[in-house]
Amino acid sequence: MNIILIGPPGSGKGTQAKMISSKYNLVHLSTGDIIREQIKANTELGNIAKTYIEQGKLLPDEYLISMIKSFLSKKDGSNGFIFDGFPRTISQAETLEKILAENDSELNSVIILNVSDKLIMERLSDRRICPVCNAIYHNVYNPPKSPDVCDLDNASLFQRDDDKEETIAYRLNVYHNITKPLIEFYQKKNLIELIDGSLLFDDVFSAITNKLDIIENK
Ligand SMILES: [Zn+2]
Repeated sequence: MNIILIGPPGSGKGTQAKMISSKYNLVHLSTGDIIREQIKANTELGNIAKTYIEQGKLLPDEYLISMIKSFLSKKDGSNGFIFDGFPRTISQAETLEKILAENDSELNSVIILNVSDKLIMERLSDRRICPVCNAIYHNVYNPPKSPDVCDLDNASLFQRDDDKEETIAYRLNVYHNITKPLIEFYQKKNLIELIDGSLLFDDVFSAITNKLDIIENK
């Protein structure tokens, strides 16, 4: 089973993808994670990626495709792939189709997590991170005991650049511009499953697995 998970920043997409991948034994291919790892490891690709991200731009196809191909070769023992953050363009979607076909495989479902921009803004702009232990707080949903101080080690919390309001607005705009044509592309292939991403995390997960159980048992 090969699936694509699409959702705006702050939709919980990454965590859902991890849980789906372990429930169905799928390799989780998150371009976001791969890129962050590369940046941390200070590789050539990481440094290139960093300059793009700092400008709020997307990494060019050539870098992404080579990462995808190397990941697709790691299929050993798994039941397929969950793509998270890829494809982002029709051209990438067509490339993915080709790569899967070369491996006698195909795409089975494209899951869209629907969350309003307003809710995303609320979720992300109040998020605070501890620089010491990486704990994640939220001023409304999960506040620290004293404002802007980590409960565990008393470090001063900070806001990731990605979580600042103008950055979120920009990222949402990019997200909508990217996903609109992709959704149309996959609609024509009858692959789209719409999931209400504004629900509680566990309810979103159940909604997704209800759909995937049907696909898996086909
Ligand atoms: Zn901490």
